[in-house]
Amino acid sequence: MASNTVKLIDIAVNFTDGMFKGIYHGKQCHSADLPSVLARAWAAGVDRIIVTGGSLKESREALEIAETDGRLFCTVGVHPTRCGVVAVGECGLDYDRLQFCPSDIQKKYFEKQFELAKAVKLPMFLHMRAAGGDFSEIVSKNLYRFPGGVTHSFTGTAEERDKLLSIENMFIGINGCSLKTKENLEIVGGIPAERMMIETDSPYCDIKNTHAGIQFVKSIWPSKKKEKYEPGLTVKGRNEPCLVRQVLEVVAGCKGIADIEGLSKTLYHNTCRLFFPHDMDASADAQLESGGVTAEQNS
Ligand SMILES: [Zn+2]
Repeated sequence: MASNTVKLIDIAVNFTDGMFKGIYHGKQCHSADLPSVLARAWAAGVDRIIVTGGSLKESREALEIAETDGRLFCTVGVHPTRCGVVAVGECGLDYDRLQFCPSDIQKKYFEKQFELAKAVKLPMFLHMRAAGGDFSEIVSKNLYRFPGGVTHSFTGTAEERDKLLSIENMFIGINGCSLKTKENLEIVGGIPAERMMIETDSPYCDIKNTHAGIQFVKSIWPSKKKEKYEPGLTVKGRNEPCLVRQVLEVVAGCKGIADIEGLSKTLYHNTCRLFFPHDMDASADAQLESGGVTAEQNS
C-alpha cells in the first residue's frame, strides 16, 4: 500500500453512480459503502475529491455528497449557486456517442455553457471524445469567457493532445482509460507535468492487468469480487479514489520520472491553481517550482 508522503487530488469521481450504493447493472450486490471508499482514499494521501455532475439530477446529488465533507467538492453542469462548486461541467463534445445526440446540437449547447462559466467566473470541466477539431475551435473562441479548464479522461491522439496544449490555461486529465495501450503511454508521456491533472473517473476506468500501464503500478489494494464483498476491501473492477495513486505511478513511469513525490506536488499545484485559487495552501504550494504554468488566474 502507498505511503502517505504524497498529497493527491482526484479530479473526477462519479460518486452518484449506483456502484457506490452497491448496485451493479440494476442488481444490489452489497450495501452502500461510500464511508469505506472515502476512508481508503484519505489513507492513501488523497486530500480532496471533485465529484462530477453531468445532468441536473446528478449535479444535485453531487452537491449533496460534496456537502457531507469539507474535502469533497463538485462540478455542476447546470446551475452552480452554492459553495463547494468548483467548476462548470462536465460538458464538451462526444462524437463517439452521436446516437445520443447529434454533433450540431452538442456544439450549440457546449457554447451555451461558456456563458454560464462567464457568469459564475468558474473554470470548465470538459469532456472530449473524437471531436478534436471542433472542440479546440469552440474552446479557443470562448477563451475570454472562463478562467481556464481541464479536458478530463483524455484518450485522444498526439495531434489532439497538441491542440489542447496550444490552448492557454488548458490542463489535461489522465486516468486509467488514458493509459491502456503502448501508444496511449507515449501520448501521455508527451504531456508536460505542468499541464496535467490526475483522476480515477471512478467507478470506471480502473487500470486492468491487460493494460499497458500496469507495468508501472506499484501500489496494490486487496480486492474482492462484488459477490464476495468485504467492507474493508476494494471491489474488483470498481474504481475508487484511492487508486488515483496508481494513475500517478503510471504517469511517472511513462514520463520516466523517478521522483514520484515531486511529480505529485506539481499535479497537486496545477489542480489547486485551477480549482482552488483562493486556497491558502495552494498559494504556499505555488512557491514550489511552478514550471511551465504561465497561466494567470483572474482571481
Ligand atoms: Zn467525461
